[in-house]
Amino acid sequence: MAAGNCAKPRVAFFDFASCEGCQLTVVDCLQTHLDLLQVVDIVQFREAMSEREEDYLIAFVEGSVTRPSDEARLLAIRRQAAIVVALGACAHIGGVNAVRHGWDFNAVRKTVYGDEGHRYETGEARPISAVIPVDGVVPGCPIDRQEFIRTVRGLLQGRLPRPPEYAVCVECKSRENACLVLQGEVCLGSVTRAGCGAICPTYQTACEGCRGLMPDANLAGLRADLAARDLPTESVEAALQLFLSRELDQQEA
Ligand code: SF4
Ligand code: SF4
Ligand code: SF4
Repeated sequence: MAAGNCAKPRVAFFDFASCEGCQLTVVDCLQTHLDLLQVVDIVQFREAMSEREEDYLIAFVEGSVTRPSDEARLLAIRRQAAIVVALGACAHIGGVNAVRHGWDFNAVRKTVYGDEGHRYETGEARPISAVIPVDGVVPGCPIDRQEFIRTVRGLLQGRLPRPPEYAVCVECKSRENACLVLQGEVCLGSVTRAGCGAICPTYQTACEGCRGLMPDANLAGLRADLAARDLPTESVEAALQLFLSRELDQQEA
């Protein structure tokens, strides 16, 4: 995977606050799609290689921004890269790191670190778009393998990634799944951006919204529908907070 042919687009991967699951998905993709390695030159990817070069055209960034010092690093990536793509929910919408959004930050820090919180540089969890302009997104927690491969191929043809603008429910219905809401589950598929093939409901697990809100998501309709089915408000709000806390704030501002 070492750098070599300068004629190929030079690609780098970076990580901020994350579990690195999206990078692992990329590593997995590269093992099964060796053709990708023939058309790009990966010059930096801490998860997978020790070589490191600073001259790259495309940057894939995983993870959310949680420390003041992250900003300078992210700005340097933006200055170098012609194209920056947010990789996964942490980079796209703050991810599960942003579950603390809206809580008293000092209280959260004390809960996590006790009296030693002052020793750790930490702050609000934000998507990378809160600090730099982002050219594209590969949503999800973790990212979808096929979507990542399509994204790379599209970028090589000059196309930025454009995730679907319709709801997970559309994909779920096209797979002829029985709706989990009708079975008493809090499923967020009606407000969540599609593109994962409704994989969770297909395996009998409610959608948690990891791909972010679809444009014009009808949150009031979702809440009213779930309330009409006697699903507890606390369960609905807890589900919405897991991945969507920051987007909810923006949409409801
Ligand atoms: S989006 Fe999910 S899988 Fe990817 S780095 Fe964040 S927590 Fe891990
Ligand atoms: S199970 Fe979830 S994603 Fe599927 S149709 Fe019902 S609400 Fe939509
Ligand atoms: S069904 Fe929902 S939670 Fe599951 S991968 Fe798709 S968007 Fe994420």
